Amino acid sequence: MLNKSFLNDLLNEIKGFNDLAILSRPSEINRYSRDFYDYSPVLKNQLSGCCADLVVKPLSIQAVIRVANVCTKYQIPLTLRGAGTGNYGQCVPLKGGVVMLMTSLTKIRNFDLNTGEVTVEAGCLLGDLNTYLIKNGRQLRLLPSTWRTASIGGFIAGGSGGIGSVRWGFLRDPGHLLGLEIVTLESPSRTITLNATSAEALNHAYGTNGIITALRLSTCPAVDWQEVAIDCESLFDSIKLFETFTRAAVDLFLCSFLERTIVQFLPSWSGEPKGKNRLLLLVAPDGVCTVERLAKAYGADFNHLGSEKAGNGFRELSWNHTTLHMRAINPDWTYLQMLLPQPEIKIIQNLKSKWGDTLLWHLEAVRQQGVQRIAALPLVLWKGNDYLEELILDCKNAGAIIFNPHVITVEDGGLGVIDSDQVSAKKKYDPKALLNPGKLKGSL
Ligand SMILES: Cc1cc2nc3c(=O)[nH]c(=O)nc-3n(C[C@H](O)[C@H](O)[C@H](O)COP(=O)(O)OP(=O)(O)OC[C@H]3O[C@@H](n4cnc5c(N)ncnc54)[C@H](O)[C@@H]3O)c2cc1C
Repeated sequence: MLNKSFLNDLLNEIKGFNDLAILSRPSEINRYSRDFYDYSPVLKNQLSGCCADLVVKPLSIQAVIRVANVCTKYQIPLTLRGAGTGNYGQCVPLKGGVVMLMTSLTKIRNFDLNTGEVTVEAGCLLGDLNTYLIKNGRQLRLLPSTWRTASIGGFIAGGSGGIGSVRWGFLRDPGHLLGLEIVTLESPSRTITLNATSAEALNHAYGTNGIITALRLSTCPAVDWQEVAIDCESLFDSIKLFETFTRAAVDLFLCSFLERTIVQFLPSWSGEPKGKNRLLLLVAPDGVCTVERLAKAYGADFNHLGSEKAGNGFRELSWNHTTLHMRAINPDWTYLQMLLPQPEIKIIQNLKSKWGDTLLWHLEAVRQQGVQRIAALPLVLWKGNDYLEELILDCKNAGAIIFNPHVITVEDGGLGVIDSDQVSAKKKYDPKALLNPGKLKGSL
């Protein structure tokens, strides 16, 4: 927490800026100091007391630069916030200071009709950006299931993948992020343009090593995605079918598996539950008949629901939205994230037989380094920390790679290793270590 006179000095410095909104009501400060970390009982405990001293909302890049300069001058922690839909307290100000809302910077600066490359400001909502692209025959390659409310800057700085990962892998794979415009916390602050290589260090760095003001991204041709739900009685056949779909010559944008207990509690946007396991597919129109043929060969029920709707469709039943719906029924559900070892069926069956209905399988097909793999976001019934740790250990011992959603640092939520490029970018662009302090382990 900043002391009162310090806070007054800060307010005096910035209150003359007419392109900067200042939000100082306790209810606003409280609201903008949290994200969706309460999906984790561990983080809920750890982060509930963290609060900003002041929230600001720049209306121009110039205002971002001025805030950066004031924070540098007074050495005040500065935490960036897009839409605040992150799950790990990514934009929670651990050491107070200023939270800066980036959501008024929304301009689509450039779109190249030939290549499909788009340059957009960081606060633009993914839903708005995607709507713009679709009007131009293109679409985003990767979207989180929060695609309607999350910002593009927050997705690159905090997200990892989601809808589209079955085809396009993860955000950090080369080819998605083509460049960045950033504002630094040097004195004085600079605006610089990074190419694809130098932008990599800021991709998934939780806004710890630079303020992203604009991004250059690749896109893909728009497709009229079709929603197909497949119901399958046995767990074994469901997984086999899941793999069959991802290996077939059909264009998929989503391939999710939900264990029958989950299906029972979800909104009925994929059809009424039939007491069976369910696969949710977004498939190109020319792939629907192949999906039908393959499903019927397994004796599974096939249900083509037609073109995707604008909202409350399969996207909002997948990825972390599955967790959201289950928590709405019972907030004791939490979750894990992992990449399963191959062949996946073994770990799926073994863990199920040990953990029973306290572990419900939710799987997502992903491409990892060019290979079709299965990521799991199982629902886990919260029974205390020791229980969670034992489950994590079981998963690791079985060969799963855990991306732990119950931790706050970039490294602990990833592969556990320090990325020296991220750390050197921090030293260069944030030499006083003011950006989102406590989140980049390599710089602590
Ligand atoms: C129900 C639910 C479903 C989700 N599904 C997915 C999913 O499918 N895939 C996925 O990857 N994530 C998912 N998430 C997490 C989150 O929604 C996404 O990562 C989202 O893209 C974050 O965007 P945001 O604008 O809300 O970012 P925020 O939460 O505001 O910020 C995320 C991080 O980025 C930093 N940041 C924000 N703006 C900037 C900037 N301009 N410059 C530098 N740093 C910045 C913040 O400091 C923070 O560390 C889900 C979360 C929920 C609650």
